[in-house]
Amino acid sequence: MIGLGYDCHKLEIGRKLFLGGVEIKSDTGAVAHSDGDVVLHSLCDALLGATGLGDIGEHFPDNNPEYKDADSREFVKQIISMINKKFFRLMNVDITIILEKPRLTDYKGLIRKSVSDLCELEIDRVNIKAKSSEKMGFVGRGEGIESFCICEVERI
Ligand code: MG
Repeated sequence: MIGLGYDCHKLEIGRKLFLGGVEIKSDTGAVAHSDGDVVLHSLCDALLGATGLGDIGEHFPDNNPEYKDADSREFVKQIISMINKKFFRLMNVDITIILEKPRLTDYKGLIRKSVSDLCELEIDRVNIKAKSSEKMGFVGRGEGIESFCICEVERI
């Protein structure tokens, strides 16, 4: 089974930017109730999508004070344990991050390792792609960041 996840967050000066559980050196960071990690949020929705378990907002509502400034790595860990209990095995994860700056060339390997650890998945089953929006739209103007994730799971 295949799942697709998408997330976007507004960027503002003075906020921290976390992508795939890795802190990125950046002038701007995500505005969010949690840590605003678009990569992990899109990953959560892809995992939930592939296993028919709804969406991240149902499991971790952003109006719940418990999830204020939450570490999104915890969301992934909980979802992985949820899908394991339902006898699903994650086969691969492919992520596309879209942002204008900073360039993620130096971070892609770290994000890949972080996602691989969180998903308990061999590194060659995780792929991270990063691209800019060619200065078009809200991403192009540096107002926001987007991430898409697709994954495949198998029933054990
Ligand atoms: Mg989000």
